[in-house]
Amino acid sequence: MFNTLKAADTAAGKRQALWIYGCMSLVLLGVAGVLLMDWLNWPIQLQGGHVGLAVNLAALLLLAGVLWLAARQLQSGRKFLVQSVLLNGITDHLGAGVMAVDASGAIAFSNPEAQRLLGYDGAQLALMKFPDLILSNSPEGGAMQVAVPEIAVQWQNYSGEAWLKTCDAQSVPVELTVTPLHLASEGKPSVAVFLDIRDRIEAKQQLRALAYYDTLTGLANRTLFFDRVSVAIRRALRGKRGLVVLVADLDNFKQINDSYGHASGDELLGLVAQTLQGCVRESDTVCRLGGDEFAILLESIEAPHDVAHLAKGIASALSQTFSVFMGEVHTSASIGVAFFPQDGANGEELLKNADVALYRAKEAGRGSYQFFTPDMARAVVEKLNIEQRLRAGMQSNQGLSVSFQPKVDLHSGRIVGFEALARWSDGGRALSPAQFIPIAEKAGLIGEIGLRVLREACLACVAWQHRFPQAGVAVNLSATQFRDFRLPQIISRVLSESGMPPHLLELELTESLLLGHFDQVNETLNNLRQLGCALAIDDFGTGYSSLAYLQRFAVNVLKIDKSFIDGLDTEVSQMTGNTLVAAILAMAHALKLDIVAEGVEHAGQLDVLRRLSLGVAISVQGYVFSRPVALRELLHELPIQFEPASNHIEL
Ligand code: C2E
Ligand code: MG
Ligand code: MG
Repeated sequence: MFNTLKAADTAAGKRQALWIYGCMSLVLLGVAGVLLMDWLNWPIQLQGGHVGLAVNLAALLLLAGVLWLAARQLQSGRKFLVQSVLLNGITDHLGAGVMAVDASGAIAFSNPEAQRLLGYDGAQLALMKFPDLILSNSPEGGAMQVAVPEIAVQWQNYSGEAWLKTCDAQSVPVELTVTPLHLASEGKPSVAVFLDIRDRIEAKQQLRALAYYDTLTGLANRTLFFDRVSVAIRRALRGKRGLVVLVADLDNFKQINDSYGHASGDELLGLVAQTLQGCVRESDTVCRLGGDEFAILLESIEAPHDVAHLAKGIASALSQTFSVFMGEVHTSASIGVAFFPQDGANGEELLKNADVALYRAKEAGRGSYQFFTPDMARAVVEKLNIEQRLRAGMQSNQGLSVSFQPKVDLHSGRIVGFEALARWSDGGRALSPAQFIPIAEKAGLIGEIGLRVLREACLACVAWQHRFPQAGVAVNLSATQFRDFRLPQIISRVLSESGMPPHLLELELTESLLLGHFDQVNETLNNLRQLGCALAIDDFGTGYSSLAYLQRFAVNVLKIDKSFIDGLDTEVSQMTGNTLVAAILAMAHALKLDIVAEGVEHAGQLDVLRRLSLGVAISVQGYVFSRPVALRELLHELPIQFEPASNHIEL
């Protein structure tokens, strides 16, 4: 390299040479003068011997000075040579590319690393110009810190990242520093030093992927989605166009996750991601917001009927059987849609309102879609709020409690059992089961709530045995709990942990639960029965009341719904109401089922029931005896026996 620099700095070289030659000449002259004086037998005695001495001394001093100067110049020349050799060695072994470039960009020197990085040899590079090696655009788009096109123009004084072209038309990212050498020579040379930063760029890209993409599905994540939505909104505003945000959520993902395991759940999410991408154009963004919730930004369509068509297509594409490692899983998805600008001015609002529409779609039934409308918002926000409260409460183990309502034998007035009923109250605000049970069911919280109720009910039942011997407890099962294949194990564990005799536990099922696949339902019921628990049909008469399933599934208890009991003392429908209840009682009796009348509020109803149930054992649950009470009240205040119903009845 420094051969080149020597050549580039010839003026300084010449000056140095002149110095050396001048000094050498003076030395030779001095030596010759002394020898001549000696030969002529000088010093001149004109003004005495001292003059000769002085001249000799001056000549010697001059000689010493000249020798010193010559030595200095020789030393610096040697230093220069040493530096040159040293630097050549360094640049040869440097892990960075080094090039000496003149003002026109011609490459006067390149070190081996520069040649290796770019794939050219020194001779080839010597015929090239440095700016031609700089890419005018970053192939990675945005990965660099600087605007690359500027480098090609301002390369002579540059420090930053750049992309260099290699001999095989590839590109290599480098950290580039170009420094002008302020030498007195012509040509204004510069030194370009560049370091391969492929690893750094890769790490940057990995970080970017982590920050902007979902690692499980490879889809855009929430952050990138919001980025894209805000860019799309700017574009839409410029082009006076609209855009659409669509949110899709699997209807039964939690159940699939619980039943097939998380690995299968993850696999399913990957397949859903692929399916969604297949439903939209490449210009649209599909994103995984988290869990089983996906969002799609549509820029290609905005007409409501086109969006409706697409939403239907997505819903049906996701209503299929996917093959995962653990087997075949059937899924469906609900979809909510929000339009820009009418449903939101920014990504957050659009997503929130698409979520509101999604919530409504879920309520409307699986596999459906809904467009956001402003009136949806309030009701849904209220439900979302309840869902949040439930989640927070379940996490902090607060809010949930269990009350117990006695079941009283109609004829003796004795308490024969209790129904456990979930209660929710947080921060002094209570929610009725009618409000929170369906929300807990949809939010995937009912399993946990059901388990806690079951545990508390069993512990309570054990605790009240000294006061109400053989009084069992009835626990309501939700559809999700009933379909969970782990239910028998869960119940069995709770029974053994609480020390509760299984025959004291009664499981209340609604009619709709029994309408599923016969074999599956039968197997679940058999498993539950094998635990030694009793099975009750709750709210009988309100669902798809069918004698067939009462017989087929061999349940033990039938609970007549409150609506029939209400009919007992209404003047107009008195006879019809009574006939209906009489028929249910007769049927239940024939099938050897225990009977519970629910929601009995008045003594008059009790009397009618007593009359209709002559000779048939029947228990009564209702405000006429007691509202649901807390365990403490049950243990200390509830009477052990109520007054038996009177026999006097007006028909
Ligand atoms: P359900 O299982 O039919 O429970 C009986 C409901 O009737 C209870 O309402 C009870 O308080 C109410 N009730 C009892 N006697 C009377 C009466 O004389 N008059 C009136 N007006 N109502 C009476 P609650 O506690 O509000 O529960 C409502 C429903 O919520 C329950 O109906 C049940 O389906 C569900 N539920 C309650 N707790 C749970 C639970 O732990 N798990 C599940 N899955 N569902 C539950
Ligand atoms: Mg019940
Ligand atoms: Mg009921």
